[in-house]
Amino acid sequence: MLGALAQAGGGVDACADTAPVALPDDELLAALDASHALAQRLATIQLALVRELDGRGLAVAQGASSTAVWLRERLRLSGRSARQLVQLAATIDASPPTVRAALLDGRLTVEQGKVVAETIADLPVEAGPEVAEKATELLIAWADRFDPTTLSRLGERVLAHVAPDLADEAELAALERAAERAEARRHVTLSEPKDGQVRLTGNLDTETASLLREAVDPLCTPAGEHDDRSPGQRRADALGEICRLALRTGHLPDNGGDRPQLVVTMSLDALVNELGAGTLDTGARLTPGAVRRLACDAAVLPAVMNGNSQILDVGRQRRLFTGPLRRALVLRDGGCAFPGCDRPSRWCDGHHVRHWADGGATTLGNAVLLCGHHHRILHRGDWVVRVASDGQPEFLPPAWLDPLRSPRRNLYHRRC
Ligand SMILES: [Zn+2]
Ligand SMILES: [Zn+2]
Repeated sequence: MLGALAQAGGGVDACADTAPVALPDDELLAALDASHALAQRLATIQLALVRELDGRGLAVAQGASSTAVWLRERLRLSGRSARQLVQLAATIDASPPTVRAALLDGRLTVEQGKVVAETIADLPVEAGPEVAEKATELLIAWADRFDPTTLSRLGERVLAHVAPDLADEAELAALERAAERAEARRHVTLSEPKDGQVRLTGNLDTETASLLREAVDPLCTPAGEHDDRSPGQRRADALGEICRLALRTGHLPDNGGDRPQLVVTMSLDALVNELGAGTLDTGARLTPGAVRRLACDAAVLPAVMNGNSQILDVGRQRRLFTGPLRRALVLRDGGCAFPGCDRPSRWCDGHHVRHWADGGATTLGNAVLLCGHHHRILHRGDWVVRVASDGQPEFLPPAWLDPLRSPRRNLYHRRC
């Protein structure tokens, strides 16, 4: 085998001597097809080697904790790729010989081979080897035309073609199995913060996912005409707003006797002069800008420290727009007061026109209702908000948007 592989390597060397730019169109296409087929076939050989190695327990015998860990070091793969390689090798190995044959002669790509092997493994026991064989052949024939995703979807109904009497029952059983798998695999993980980012990963069952969608989708529409956030950014913001809303309700279970509340620890200097970072109770660090914005938020408890690390009581009570004041604010603004924004009031925080840390009063005349997105925009400082002489909030756009900086108002929440 080593000699044959060396020969294949020589073939690759020869290919490398020809620059693709020199190829006419038809040869370019044919070369693409041929190189792809070869890569797939070679990958199949590698999978067989990995499987044999794994079966012999060579990696463990050499002191590694698993074949995947060993492969990661030996082949300099990521942990994820190494695990996938071992898993795929086992899946292909357990599949009918026709699958391996089709992989080796290039009728299946590796991704398609995985789909076929998994589909066959998922067939009900009652189907028996004869039906499995027919299904395999049909799937391999389909692989000529369909990509792995489509092939997988077609595979769910393969029994309807080769064993119609079994199909309905099998489909139900497959649904049950899928639901069980989804339940067992459900999880959500938040990584440690790195570069100011936390990675959110996980799997949800379809029911929880649809709840999440129901809750997130209405908040994902652009907030007015100047909303240049990507759909992904809007979804991320929406998730934050849902959590804020939940915290605000006070219905969440107590956390060791305290109402659940995010605590931001900051120095008075950070708050007033926007110097230095703040800290969340999770240990995550925040920019001074974020500190000031969060200090507006009813779902957040700011712990302001003086130079001696003593907690000052600044703004604890007087900073929040609650009770009658909140109701008056909701009545006046009707929702996010930013021009063009349609977010209703329940998604909004009361923002101090002059920050409470700078001595701004918690009064209607110093308040404006803002959704999470526009709250962030305002704290960035390009836009300026003020309460006009008629008592209504108005916003001065940044000069790059409007050199005259003419005040704008929200016309969406119409007042009668
Ligand atoms: Zn604010
Ligand atoms: Zn808004």
